[in-house]
Amino acid sequence: MGEVFYVTTPIYYVNDMPHIGTAYTTLAADVLARYHRLKGREVFFLTGTDEHGQKVAQAAEERGESPQAWADKMAPHFTGTWKLLNISNDDFIRTTQERHALVAQLFIEKLKESGDIYLDAYEGWYCIHDESFLLSSQLVDGACPDCGRPVDWVKEENYFFRLSKYAGKVLRHIEENPEFVQPESRRNEVTSFIELGLKDQSISRTSFAWGIPLPFDPKHVMYVWFEALLNYVSAIDYGADPERFESIWPADWHLVGKEILRFHAVIWPAMLMAAGLPLPKRVFAHGWLTVEGEKMSKSLGNVVGPDELVDEYGVDGYRYYFLREFSFGSDGNFSRRTLLRRYNAELANDLGNLVSRVLTMVDRYRDGTVPEPGAPGEEENVLREKSSALVDSLDRRLAAPAFNEALAEIWEYIHALNRYVDVSAPWSLAKDASRGADLDRVLYNCLEGLRIVSLLISPFMPGTAARIWERVGMDEPLKGARLPESAAWGLLPAGSVTTRGEALFPRKETQPEDS
Ligand SMILES: [Zn+2]
Repeated sequence: MGEVFYVTTPIYYVNDMPHIGTAYTTLAADVLARYHRLKGREVFFLTGTDEHGQKVAQAAEERGESPQAWADKMAPHFTGTWKLLNISNDDFIRTTQERHALVAQLFIEKLKESGDIYLDAYEGWYCIHDESFLLSSQLVDGACPDCGRPVDWVKEENYFFRLSKYAGKVLRHIEENPEFVQPESRRNEVTSFIELGLKDQSISRTSFAWGIPLPFDPKHVMYVWFEALLNYVSAIDYGADPERFESIWPADWHLVGKEILRFHAVIWPAMLMAAGLPLPKRVFAHGWLTVEGEKMSKSLGNVVGPDELVDEYGVDGYRYYFLREFSFGSDGNFSRRTLLRRYNAELANDLGNLVSRVLTMVDRYRDGTVPEPGAPGEEENVLREKSSALVDSLDRRLAAPAFNEALAEIWEYIHALNRYVDVSAPWSLAKDASRGADLDRVLYNCLEGLRIVSLLISPFMPGTAARIWERVGMDEPLKGARLPESAAWGLLPAGSVTTRGEALFPRKETQPEDS
């Protein structure tokens, strides 16, 4: 069971436009997917859109459209953004697709049969914006504790899921499996939340129709959160193709924002337990991004979309910055100043200059041909050992996952290569005809070091990685490379042709206040 590496993002609410926050989760999932493919695993990487619920119906109505037409118009903003960011998702699920509705109905039917669903009157507070049921004790000054908007008093007949029955089991699972909810600070929040006591969860609504009807009582539509969580199993054919389902489930990683951790770490496991399914291996809640020190919000007008930044810094400049700047589990602050600084220092200078220096020298001194490696000296052995240690370390960093630390270590290696060029001074060797073999060896090691760098950055910056890989003279496509085998030192074939190419990261002018 579960031999496929399965990583998910939340499905994004179709009323919103993709922004740097949603892109951050998706980017993180993409790195994990690409890394595990590089390791030779079969991977299934899922993302998609959440398209039902009262808020979507309202937004469509305000525009005089049907909810489906509205969702059809919004979903391409997500698929388009993921394409722009070079996201390698294997599927894109929309909750208005029939494949999802069928599985959602099958799942709820199953819970009904096992006695975990019952009909009761619900009376209480509801926040339409967050589609959440709230207790009076949770309100802050009479308003929603999460978004601050006014709440509605809802009184209707609802079906309920016996969440309370599973509270103890879920709590035990979290305590016995420390990797299940990460990071640790969030795990403590979840356990204290459960310890306060869980009420049964209302899982249907009757006051509007934009949702999936309950198969056993079609005047009810499924509560949007209950239904949305099921995308993780509907996309892999739960109930329809057991063989496929079992090869992929359980998920290796559900990556979520911290605001939806409870749904994933409390309700979702209880639902799976009720259906007799194994639980996901890990749920990771990452932090929030602020923009220039302020909370990102439509009303403040400071929502930043990926496209404007990609226009300016390129897709890999974008990817690098977000993965390097922030620690995945913590909150972080996006600022244009730090983006520009990292771009110039770490991409244009450290990496871009190194590539261009080395390839220029190979052009000038060896007519753009990879020289013979020759016998390794002490410095080469150091580079070789460092690269093999780096491969092991990358594995640990991405198991955490600590994208920023992984990149920091790869950059230490890039610094070591830069120092190697400075110390071995190929330009001096080139002046002395008797040192031709030394020059060959140094240039070979620089190219081989760059080849390994390109391999290791490929999950983070796939486009740049492929360009470096080709420029140093690799004929076989990077796509076919595997870790750890392809990182073995010395695989770059002597005699192949290198290409200088244009600057990978042209330096940007800094503003006076940045210097
Ligand atoms: Zn709210």
